[in-house]
Amino acid sequence: MQEEKTIKAKSDPDVNSVFGYGFADVIGQYDWDETLRLVAGATDDDVRRVLAVARRNTRRLTPEEFAVLISEAADPYLEEMAQLAHHFTQEKFGNTISMYIPMYVGNACTNKCVYCGFNHDNPFERTVLTPEQVEEECKAIRKLAPFENLLIVSGEYPSLCGVEYLEKVLRIARPYFHNLTIEVQPMRSSSYARLVKSGLDGVVCFQETYHKEAYKKYHPRGMKSHYDWRLNGFDRMGDARVHKIGMGVLLGLEDWRADIVMLARHLRYLQKKYWRSRFSVNFPRMRPSESGFQPVSIISDRQLARLTAAFRIFDHEADISFSTREAPEYRRHIMPLGVTSMSAGSRTEPGGYAVYRDKALEQFEVSDGREPADVARQIREAGFEPVWKDWDKIFD
Ligand code: SF4
Repeated sequence: MQEEKTIKAKSDPDVNSVFGYGFADVIGQYDWDETLRLVAGATDDDVRRVLAVARRNTRRLTPEEFAVLISEAADPYLEEMAQLAHHFTQEKFGNTISMYIPMYVGNACTNKCVYCGFNHDNPFERTVLTPEQVEEECKAIRKLAPFENLLIVSGEYPSLCGVEYLEKVLRIARPYFHNLTIEVQPMRSSSYARLVKSGLDGVVCFQETYHKEAYKKYHPRGMKSHYDWRLNGFDRMGDARVHKIGMGVLLGLEDWRADIVMLARHLRYLQKKYWRSRFSVNFPRMRPSESGFQPVSIISDRQLARLTAAFRIFDHEADISFSTREAPEYRRHIMPLGVTSMSAGSRTEPGGYAVYRDKALEQFEVSDGREPADVARQIREAGFEPVWKDWDKIFD
């Protein structure tokens, strides 16, 4: 009987990724406090040594070397880091910023994330767009700007926004957009594979925080309360050969330094194991005003700039994405530090582009509410070329 279970676990990717073969089993070797000490204890000599390795560019930096570059000891080297980050970005991505736009299709959610407006306990009328409404939204987005890169977002409510529903949405959206990515509840590997067959290009999922105890506190109910299930979701995406896997943490839920180093370790693990996939990273800052939530640690503008440059120096391939959560001026300044992807014109409520304009509740307040054309103009003025689609798969 025991043997049967072992054989099943080795042959079924769904089972593998839930019980014992995903990053949830690896992360235990990294201690949170030790990681914080690594950052806090970095010295000027450490920074010089890591930057010398980065400049030689004969191997990739380790996550522990990345930890040195996000430390306060690296602050005097910000200008040099910015130049290196820009150089590595240009080598891989040229002068382009890939534009995308989110389309929220539902705000029903079974989870109770304490920092989110779609929280299950928040009393408001929930909406899930009908196929006709999805099409209306697609048309309205295409009228806004020539976006080819669509991020389909919903709350986590599998019985309303499950695989069947998402398959329909993908089919409706496909004629309007070149790249289709989803940001919904984590799924089984077989469900991801099914959606890939229906035209899915990418999946974005935020681990939110890698601190296991804090994670439980912030996500007390619903499937999202299962830390390991969410963490191993990225393995399930890789198993299903999802072309592009998007990862993210919310900076400020716990100490941002440890969270971002854990994200770097997770990225390296996934890159080795799922080398066919491309990766993107997002690290938005939590704001004190969101849903009355107070972040545990605040990351300053300068620290975020340092972190962005450090991430690009650490990894030359991953997309670094900045959404409309950041204000226009800051997005302008952060652009040359390694950013390769930006959203514009975002509405964060279902039907926000056409069906329910000004009616439903936003998931979060956007800080950059400009029209896509204005964002594109700013990008050009900064010396970059806005492209309205993601890189074609053929270039990978
Ligand atoms: S963050 Fe996502 S999963 Fe959590 S309550 Fe909001 S919509 Fe639901």
